[in-house]
Amino acid sequence: MAVLEIKNLHATYQLEGSEIRALQGVDFTIGEGEFFVLLGPSGCGKTTMLRSIAGLERPVAGEILIDGELVFSAERKIFVPPDQRPIAMVFQSYAIWPHMDVFENIAFPLRSGRVQLGDAEVNKRVGDVLDLLGLDGYAERPVTTLSGGQQQRVALARALALQPRILLMDEPLSNLDFKLQVRLRSQMRELMHQLNLTTVHVTHNQAEALETGDRIAVMDTGVSKQIGNPHAIYHRPESEFVARFIGDMNVFYGAVTEVNGEELLVSSGAGTLRAHTSGSRMAVGDKCAIGVRPEDLTISTGAGSGVGDEDVYTGRLQNSQFVGEAYVHDIVVGTEVLRVKMHHREGFNVGENVNISIPLACTIAVNPDASSEIADTGEDLISNAGATDKQEHGAYAR
Ligand code: ATP
Repeated sequence: MAVLEIKNLHATYQLEGSEIRALQGVDFTIGEGEFFVLLGPSGCGKTTMLRSIAGLERPVAGEILIDGELVFSAERKIFVPPDQRPIAMVFQSYAIWPHMDVFENIAFPLRSGRVQLGDAEVNKRVGDVLDLLGLDGYAERPVTTLSGGQQQRVALARALALQPRILLMDEPLSNLDFKLQVRLRSQMRELMHQLNLTTVHVTHNQAEALETGDRIAVMDTGVSKQIGNPHAIYHRPESEFVARFIGDMNVFYGAVTEVNGEELLVSSGAGTLRAHTSGSRMAVGDKCAIGVRPEDLTISTGAGSGVGDEDVYTGRLQNSQFVGEAYVHDIVVGTEVLRVKMHHREGFNVGENVNISIPLACTIAVNPDASSEIADTGEDLISNAGATDKQEHGAYAR
């Protein structure tokens, strides 16, 4: 059964006589105990969505249901106020009260507002969450004497003590130093699963989203572009926006010359290559954006390189850079420059020709975004085809 349902939600702000459309028809459903992440660039509407679920914003259209009950419906003029919704929220700024100690920060909302518990229950709940978050022994500490990470735990403890049906978190880790963020990410996900707590987590940090989310909604300008598990979002982006936004991706353009089910033959500045459609419907002659990740490409020198179902091209090594965990090589292939990430340098020399293997399974083709250059220019990519010296390696075998 769905715990949270968002249906065709629209939200706007009025600013100096103009209307900002922060949400433009968002739909999703979240199940019991799911850790759901809203991910997207600044200004895409994540916070507006979270605040709408909490009842801190009043959308202009659509519906929000919690456990099948409407808490918001524009059409039916239903708006359940925030303190009557079974939610708790953790903010980026922690929003803890500086004049109270740790115990009081957690206890205060339990004594007032929706729950109004007696002393015995308050003591028990505060004790339980302090224990859960490793804060036992801190009950009487003024919160201002705690580190950022500890303050963030107090904010989380306060939300958990409310035993909400849905926990909403708005960038709760972004004020912490990087190592602490990484440590808390996995702890947070484990904790919510242990509690079977349905969670909506907002972040603009894709690594955090991929690590924590059971499912991720990637948002752009008030629209949900794709919803899926981290694996699908990373390996099967369904739009140029998602392909570019998640992880490191070589993106270049081409035109479809053949369609075989989900497998396409695409003519591009890098030559003719095979790619999978990734949610986009494609026909011969369509322009497409081709995506392949630097870590999925390999380069080698000499004959006989390339194994398995992949296309092998010749390119020229333009540049190599050491980036700590790997070397990143820029390879000129036809009129494109492809980035290749490999863990070993393998003694390649700048300026030399190398073989570059592009595995079919890792190459996707999607409709170009309306804003991308190719969508505007009408440039004829087919004329670029064959610009590269393609080596036969079963590229057209199927
Ligand atoms: P960030 O990651 O930077 O917090 P976000 O994805 O959470 O961004 P929102 O805060 O939801 O985005 O904002 C969505 C859009 O609505 C943006 O264009 C923003 O400028 C606008 N907006 C948000 N709050 C207001 C407001 N109070 N008045 C006017 N415009 C607003």
